[in-house]
Amino acid sequence: MSRIAYVNGFYRNMRDACVNIEDRGYQFSDGVYEVCEIRDGRLVDMARHMARLQRSLSELRIAMPMPLTSLAVVMHEVVRRNRVHYGIVYLQITRGVARRDHAFPAKPVQPSVVVTARSLNLAKNQDTAAKGIKVITVPENRWPRVDIKSVSLLPNVLAKQAARDEGAYEAWYVDPDGYVTEGASSNAWIVTDQGSVVTRSAESGILSGITRAVLMDVLAALQIKLEERPFTAAEARQAAEAFVTSASQIVMPVVAIDNQRIGKGEPGPISLRLREEFHRFSAFS
Ligand code: PMP
Repeated sequence: MSRIAYVNGFYRNMRDACVNIEDRGYQFSDGVYEVCEIRDGRLVDMARHMARLQRSLSELRIAMPMPLTSLAVVMHEVVRRNRVHYGIVYLQITRGVARRDHAFPAKPVQPSVVVTARSLNLAKNQDTAAKGIKVITVPENRWPRVDIKSVSLLPNVLAKQAARDEGAYEAWYVDPDGYVTEGASSNAWIVTDQGSVVTRSAESGILSGITRAVLMDVLAALQIKLEERPFTAAEARQAAEAFVTSASQIVMPVVAIDNQRIGKGEPGPISLRLREEFHRFSAFS
């Protein structure tokens, strides 16, 4: 079965799907994106993803290309046409096509919309979670507006590759004061010896993850103490447990940071419990 993508009003076979070479997403990374998890063919926590999308667009002064309800229809349709039961749906909106010039087009153009979906292997993902992942730390080198979910991801690409080169799965950025900000494509968490779960506040230095927000509801419901505060890489390496969150990984245990074992070097009980409980608190649509 060939995969289907939605591109600016049309559902196309992936091999025929294309965008204009003067799309500002292609030339300037002038656009934003969202990734939602798909479970049992349904979209997870879509309302929150759509709220963040609206915020990203408005911060960049890109117009919403169609009503949210229409966008939701397109996303569901792409999932359906690709017969994805478990996987992700990817949505990208750029400022649109215009003759190359850094400033916004003088006459507003229609933003470009692309939606794709693909299946992921649930068993494989569960297997990864049962083993846990390794993380390396890298110096923070991104622009300060990481709160915007922009497609401009070159530092993230390089950080992720640095992790791969060292046999790790994720890279955690460390700011000049020694504090962990977040992962190249995930939010970073640790668990203290006292059993408190710690993550940096979304006020600065991180993308406000949707999985992160839902996990806070999970913590409250399970009466697990949350500490929203910065933590250093040194504290993380000594933590009882660590994990990352993202729409595609949900809660993914971390078993080593910079080749230093975390806890017993295996996924911790709190991380695994949070992973298990997570979808009881998700909204499906
Ligand atoms: N931070 C960064 C830099 C990310 O790319 C992601 C995943 N898109 C996250 C955090 C996690 O966000 P979410 O839980 O909404 O997927």
